[in-house]
Amino acid sequence: MKITEVRVHPLATDFAQPCWTAHERFDRAQLILVEVRTDSGLVGIGEVSSGPQAVVADYLRKFAEIVVGMDPLGHGDIWARLMSLTVPRPGGIPGWDGLPPPLPRHDRAQIMAAIGGIDIALWDIKGKAAGLPVFRLLGGTRTEVFTYATGGFYVEGVSPMACAEELAGYVAQGHRAVKLKTGALAFDDEVARVAATRRVIGPDVLLMLDMNAPYDLADCIAFAQAVEPHGIFWLEEPLHWYLQPRDFVRLAAATPIPLAHGEREWHRHAVRDFIDQGAIRYVQFDSTRHAGFTESLRIAHYAEMHGVKVAPHTAPHIHRHLVSALGDAAFAAESVGDPGRHPIHHAVYSDPADAKDGMVHLSEQPGFGYDIDWAQVDRLRA
Ligand SMILES: [Mg+2]
Repeated sequence: MKITEVRVHPLATDFAQPCWTAHERFDRAQLILVEVRTDSGLVGIGEVSSGPQAVVADYLRKFAEIVVGMDPLGHGDIWARLMSLTVPRPGGIPGWDGLPPPLPRHDRAQIMAAIGGIDIALWDIKGKAAGLPVFRLLGGTRTEVFTYATGGFYVEGVSPMACAEELAGYVAQGHRAVKLKTGALAFDDEVARVAATRRVIGPDVLLMLDMNAPYDLADCIAFAQAVEPHGIFWLEEPLHWYLQPRDFVRLAAATPIPLAHGEREWHRHAVRDFIDQGAIRYVQFDSTRHAGFTESLRIAHYAEMHGVKVAPHTAPHIHRHLVSALGDAAFAAESVGDPGRHPIHHAVYSDPADAKDGMVHLSEQPGFGYDIDWAQVDRLRA
């Protein structure tokens, strides 16, 4: 089998209700759908959720020229060839080995994102070629995996305390675990949001805090100690972006609350250092942001060996396969409480992996288990 074409579909749509995390405003949903076509007629679909969209799309088109003619089942070779473009190599000066020169250092995040989008499509093809869903291809048997509902975004014009009722609503829908956005307000106001949410959801529901990196080490230790009485399952992305594994180790030593991290990392080597140093108990690497499903698998197996649970960030329609295949080594796939926060997924995928009774389900459809509504793709083109 050979790859004949890679089609790149940048999609975007305005949110009905703009919102914030502690760090960013979201007024527009964006997604790049990556379609890898083959001479066998099999077509794989991948996606990229990070940006800037135009830069990532340009790299996807550039990489298309490189992967056309390669065997789509050779995901390891394709990943390695694309990754090799990020470093100097013998013969790498233009024209000497038929590949582009080393790619610019300032585009690394977008390059890793583009590699990921193609890689995910290759796994979709691999499943379809084998006639198996990806989780079965990987040796998994679980057809439902635990999930949690993320919510509590800061919505303009809405009281930040509305998070308690919102998350209780997800519990009423059957979720047994919920994740609250925190970190945007003053320290005491955030502690009050956590306390109110715990009061309303009751004592038995798991409650994670998704912090989006609001604190330095000292403030984060104080925050962790202030929310400890409210039974927190994990602190996610607790420290400022520039702080490193050894800072997380010091935080972990100061609180019994487990730490979760990984969504902002680009590759396994960065995640390895968080795991090796004992900084985190949950790893949240995101195939759709950077480096793809192949890198997620490498990280998942490394995490398993070190007793760190796998809890991939978002994209449950893809990551449910990883969680299923990892069995007890994985914790959960992530769901968004309000489907309106993922308007593109819910428009284009035939199975966007909506949770039922706190679980995400997997079908026997080969590949990642979704078809694409191309009319919706046309409607959402950026
Ligand atoms: Mg997060």
